[in-house]
Amino acid sequence: MSATLQFGNGKSSTIQTGLYINGKFQPGAEGKTFAVVNPANGKEICQVSEASAKDVDAAVKVARETYDNKWGEKVSGRERGKMLIRLAELIEENADELAAIESLDNGKAFSIARSFDIPEAAANFRYYGGWADKVHGKTIEVVDSKFCYTRHEPIGVCGQIIPWNFPFLMMAWKIAPALATGNVVVLKTAEQTPLSALKFAELIEKAGVPPGVINIVQGFGPTAGAAIANHMDIDKVAFTGSTLVGRNILKAAASSNLKKTTLELGGKSPNIIMNDANIDDAVAWSCFGINFNHGQCCCAGSRVYVQAGIYDEFEKKLLAKYKSINVGDPFKQDTFQGPQVSQLQYDRIMAMIESGKQEGGKILTGGERHGKEGYFIEPTIFTGVNHDAKIAREEIFGPVLVLQKFEDEAELMKIANDSIYGLAAAVFSRDISKAIQTAHALKAGTVWVNCYNQLHPNVPFGGYKASGIGRELGEYALSNYTNIKAVHVNLSEPAP
Ligand code: NAD
Repeated sequence: MSATLQFGNGKSSTIQTGLYINGKFQPGAEGKTFAVVNPANGKEICQVSEASAKDVDAAVKVARETYDNKWGEKVSGRERGKMLIRLAELIEENADELAAIESLDNGKAFSIARSFDIPEAAANFRYYGGWADKVHGKTIEVVDSKFCYTRHEPIGVCGQIIPWNFPFLMMAWKIAPALATGNVVVLKTAEQTPLSALKFAELIEKAGVPPGVINIVQGFGPTAGAAIANHMDIDKVAFTGSTLVGRNILKAAASSNLKKTTLELGGKSPNIIMNDANIDDAVAWSCFGINFNHGQCCCAGSRVYVQAGIYDEFEKKLLAKYKSINVGDPFKQDTFQGPQVSQLQYDRIMAMIESGKQEGGKILTGGERHGKEGYFIEPTIFTGVNHDAKIAREEIFGPVLVLQKFEDEAELMKIANDSIYGLAAAVFSRDISKAIQTAHALKAGTVWVNCYNQLHPNVPFGGYKASGIGRELGEYALSNYTNIKAVHVNLSEPAP
């Protein structure tokens, strides 16, 4: 089963469309397939196999057998590291094709997929390849008559459920640290965007990764996703997606085998611009902060608070900046913003825009569909929105900004932190003391000072409050994928 994909740049690619289990592409146990849709025009791209709970079970059995007999601590960190670095190289060698698949499937601009998503994914594999032989415990002095040490052991079979906003990069964030620490994975891609992971699956064997270590299934949340969360033989589940589903994952983990759980969920991130900020820079970063990836970022800077002294100038310049955003065909070289990922997301965002209007918000720009086909939405700014309005409190996951004026910094901090979320935040100020004090007072897992949306493989990312549990990226992510064992060794302690 394969499909040939035609890209908007005149090129094409053939991919396998089965479930990737034990190193082979295969149809789903129930023989079902589902359609993958091009968000730029709403037309079907191809059909792919659909995983059922039975397929998840088959993948878990293979993963368990592989972990017990051929992987885990049986393969040295040095060998695992080599495989991860080889995967990084293979991603780089196939970057044009992977970026085109990502752009076609998700709707993001090809130029951005090619310069950000794909190279960042490769950087993640390389980074964790470097860690693979550096994961180790400590010796702990207790008394002369004994000593203790810790081992950082792999957890085992990891279930991973990823979203559609950065399909390839989220896959890398999940798989790379899991393999570096000696685990095996069963990963479910998002039903909207399964294609780039299928191309990646073709690279796994080439990198020398044994069959059964990485298993990739595509399917729907309530079936394949729930089967992962509820599975009795999955030792750990890592999830990125909505807070609503994150709660269900945690409940399923609790009521099955209490599998270890990490969650990377939603946000409603405040972006604070102080009177003494460099206005032009703050405008550019704020525009990028909300509109990057069409607003489909969990860390999107969707609440911008500008201090009264510079508000009018900021608003005028932001509006001018918005007029320069190119929305359109993802394969055109100068496109910044493509379509939203699906009809459902388009409808959700348009409903939020409507609710903003109903609650008295004023649209400064945007608010409408862009073009005649596909799921394009104009970059939108609301002003005059009450802090209690739905669009000021709930995640929109689209190119919709709520712009507000503030006078008093202390008052503003209360509003900025008054959210169920705590994923990210930003502050713009030339006064470094003020900026850092603000950064420390913000209740968020990431705070950007005089910038926005900066991510690095070696810097942790994750949320406070309802934005999640655990940290991805950096050294911190390794602890998501290891069990700590304490070993007590008696040297001369007398028997009781
Ligand atoms: P979602 O949470 O429903 O989907 C994310 C992933 O979870 C997908 O792979 C999906 O198949 C799976 N899933 C869904 N239901 C499941 C279940 N019951 N058990 C196990 N897995 C399940 O997200 P969505 O509906 O595609 O998007 C809805 C909203 O979620 C968006 O508007 C946005 O606010 C938020 N979102 C956040 C992120 C993020 O990066 N934090 C990513 C995508 C979506």
